[in-house]
Amino acid sequence: MQDSKPVLIDSHSHIYYRDYSGDFDEMLARAADAGVAAMLVVGTDIESSRESVELAEKYPQLYAAVGVHPHDAGRVTDKCYDVIRDLAQASPKVVAIGEIGLDFYRDRSPRDTQEVVFRRFLQLASELELPVIIHDRDAHERVMAILREEAVRRGVLHCFSGDAAMAAEAIGMGFYVSIPGTITYPSNEALRDVVRAVTVDRMLVETDCPYLTPVPYRGKRNEPAYVRMAAEKVAELKGLTLADVARITTKNVRDLFGIRLWDQSTRIAYRIRNSLYLNITNRCSNRCSFCAKFDDFTVKGHNLLLDGEPSFEEVMAAIGQPQGINEVVFCGFGEPLIRLDLVKQVAEQLKRRGYTVRINTDGQGNLVHGRNILPELAGLVDSISVSLNAPDAAEYDRLCNTPFGEAGFAGVCDFIREAEKHIPQVVASAVTVPGTDVEACRRLAESLGAEFRVREYAEVG
Ligand code: SF4
Repeated sequence: MQDSKPVLIDSHSHIYYRDYSGDFDEMLARAADAGVAAMLVVGTDIESSRESVELAEKYPQLYAAVGVHPHDAGRVTDKCYDVIRDLAQASPKVVAIGEIGLDFYRDRSPRDTQEVVFRRFLQLASELELPVIIHDRDAHERVMAILREEAVRRGVLHCFSGDAAMAAEAIGMGFYVSIPGTITYPSNEALRDVVRAVTVDRMLVETDCPYLTPVPYRGKRNEPAYVRMAAEKVAELKGLTLADVARITTKNVRDLFGIRLWDQSTRIAYRIRNSLYLNITNRCSNRCSFCAKFDDFTVKGHNLLLDGEPSFEEVMAAIGQPQGINEVVFCGFGEPLIRLDLVKQVAEQLKRRGYTVRINTDGQGNLVHGRNILPELAGLVDSISVSLNAPDAAEYDRLCNTPFGEAGFAGVCDFIREAEKHIPQVVASAVTVPGTDVEACRRLAESLGAEFRVREYAEVG
């Protein structure tokens, strides 16, 4: 399952520069419109590192990295390491040490000094257990040698400028390579060759804004919204869709930096009337043609797009101590029984607290798990609502796109019959999709021993 709009992360930006002071909020709004859900704000010296942390503290979609660029290595004193350590520990929104590294192109600091400072920051990152963001310009051999010697294995080579062999070695060591907007430049065949050779599973995308503005905005100020151009070019080169590249690179950023895209609690537990609904997965065992989630992950004003599946502890924290609740319903945009163990764990806690528990399901649970799971729900679930949706296998397949083929419809019917033996209330439902023979669905539901309920389009989810 996917959101209709690709969700991207700009893994490297310098949006604390004065370039953005005149339109900062508009720039963030343009990023959001372009599907950029988060940005890393990367410091290059003490002052900009401090500003990065302040921005990350102020804006939920911003995360910070703190460090000193190799250009300024000559100005780094012992006190600088302490300041960067303090900044890194000042906020949970600081997710990396960077940017640090070597720049033998401009040589603004002596090369031996750059190497000493680079090593000290790598050691600091290891001490703090943070990944590193590495700047490498015309210093490939020394960067790789120092990374090997310092045994650093977690980070990204930002604005990657090496060749495919270097990328393969870095990836083999545990690093990611980050692709900037220069991938769109007609002359940059070398970077396109790297992208063709490297797995997207170890790639990030970035703007490095305000620098390196991609085509077609070259010559103007760069900004996070334009990370989409880099992602589109990667998609083209890899034969993937933008949505594929967005999904994979966003996951890579989250894996590397431990980023949660948003506070999930209101997406996991949400309230409609006197019911508390639990949204514990966005995965489904069907792909129903009428499902609203394929247009928008919002149901009755609640956005249900999850940033990763919640743990038992996260679900219980999201439930909290709700007042005035008649029932708790496993529902959401996803099939709850895919996560059977979590459902059982949470339902047990809810029953202990005296709540009525309902599950809304597509009825494919026995097929998904390859066994009859209904006895496992006895005593934990008071009511189960099964989406029957069709009076026969052909219609069911047309509406629900079940991956189980003809067995899908038979599986739902068996599930309903079996549920009668273990769960006090069993409801079979059908959605009023044009062309559905609702009365035939009703007759079938009743012949299976279930109550019948019609669900309007708007209720689907
Ligand atoms: S209607 Fe339910 S089961 Fe079908 S695709 Fe949507 S969320 Fe999944």
